Amino acid sequence: MNTQNDKVVAIIGYGTAGVNAAIALRTSGYDGVVRVFSDTDIPPYSPILTSYYAWGEKSYEECFPWSEEELADLRLDVLADSAVVELDPEAHVVRTAAGDYPYAKCVVATGATPACWGFPGVEGDDAYEPLVLRSMDDAERLKTTLENPACKRVLISGASMVALKTLEACLNRGKACTLVGMNDHVLDFNAFPQAAQRFEKGLREQGVELRLGQTISSVVRKDVEGGFEGRELEVTFSNGEVGVFDEISVSHGMKSNLDFVKPGTLEVDRALVVDEFMCTSDPDVYAAGDVAQATELISGEKRVVGIWKNAALQGACAGRVIAAELAGEDVRGECAKGKYALDDSISTNTIAVNGILFISAGTIELSDDRYLEVREDDDMTVVCLYQKCDGADDRLVGFNVVCDHDEEGGVAYDTGAMLTLRIERGL
Ligand SMILES: Cc1cc2nc3c(=O)[nH]c(=O)nc-3n(C[C@H](O)[C@H](O)[C@H](O)COP(=O)(O)OP(=O)(O)OC[C@H]3O[C@@H](n4cnc5c(N)ncnc54)[C@H](O)[C@@H]3O)c2cc1C
Repeated sequence: MNTQNDKVVAIIGYGTAGVNAAIALRTSGYDGVVRVFSDTDIPPYSPILTSYYAWGEKSYEECFPWSEEELADLRLDVLADSAVVELDPEAHVVRTAAGDYPYAKCVVATGATPACWGFPGVEGDDAYEPLVLRSMDDAERLKTTLENPACKRVLISGASMVALKTLEACLNRGKACTLVGMNDHVLDFNAFPQAAQRFEKGLREQGVELRLGQTISSVVRKDVEGGFEGRELEVTFSNGEVGVFDEISVSHGMKSNLDFVKPGTLEVDRALVVDEFMCTSDPDVYAAGDVAQATELISGEKRVVGIWKNAALQGACAGRVIAAELAGEDVRGECAKGKYALDDSISTNTIAVNGILFISAGTIELSDDRYLEVREDDDMTVVCLYQKCDGADDRLVGFNVVCDHDEEGGVAYDTGAMLTLRIERGL
């Protein structure tokens, strides 16, 4: 291996985590080659904004958080349309269809892809693919669908944040919306039932049909002249009831993009397992964002916390650590550790669907040594989960705020910010 190649830092994935790794490399003084592998030919975008683009709240240009100048300043060697097909940590090589690229250090920042687990497919239309939401291509397809007046009835399958953002886009385009979710409440991984109920009431008041505790059993295509794409979709739900829709959107979770990692070379659980420096089981491979499984604050377990802030902080951590290591610094030494190690991650969510606001942080996992406190008034429900601490004040480990109106800088946001801080500080 020549000296030049020894210094190359490879970043796989040109999203939030990847860009923040690049920024941190440069701001930490690394001056060598940063080669970025992207599977698209567009600049890094924000998946958060895709639903807003689909319903017309944001323009296409507004979905790209970094300007051309900001990206140019990073002096990156961006290989566009160059999906990585193999990462071989033993050989220190990243492989694409165009060839092999050696590296000294590598950051895996490939994000995640929507999963359609449990969607039964469509009888009579093997090629049918439900709407999903992650990439700009997904957003474009959702936008085109929602702009078509022939599409009147949309079924949203799933009850997560992504499902609710899709629901909001459909509502704002005047579609009749049904949401089907396998659990008893929306936001099933983030909301306590007491908070979810208030949110659900708000959705029903906006005309959303909620089918909670149900799944899609089967879907049959029926040809209909003049129908959306010349057909309609007859859906049978798990309770035996039948509904007819023009389009179906599926948000059944996300799967980390890791198919290219050479089997047996890195520790993989649900994603790439990393330490507090975002380093994987290979000392020269780091991971950040939706593809990394780092320590989560409340559980102490390694978990994927798939949110924007986390991806940005983890990418920045990887970049700083790599720059220091390439400069010969021992980041793990007692003096340096505090400077380079990243704090444990914490799950936070803020979502508003046409004025109904939901804010959460921490965990909703109940146990014998935890208890809930619920405060409800005319326009807001606050649910707090406490951990009993012998001989000390009980510690807040999770909360939900649901408010009937979404007022920027209002009491709900202040409450959410204050409670989030308490969780982060272990108070
Ligand atoms: C609809 C939606 C709404 C969301 N709303 C919120 C929100 O309100 N708040 C919040 O905090 N988070 C939200 N999130 C989550 C947030 O967007 C993600 O956590 C964050 O974008 C993760 O960043 P990342 O860099 O890990 O992945 P990404 O931003 O997805 O970037 C990964 C990049 O790697 C590329 N890639 C994949 N495979 C390869 C390969 N083999 N070779 C080369 N490149 C590859 C991908 O195409 C992509 O461009 C939302 C997500 C979605 C989908």
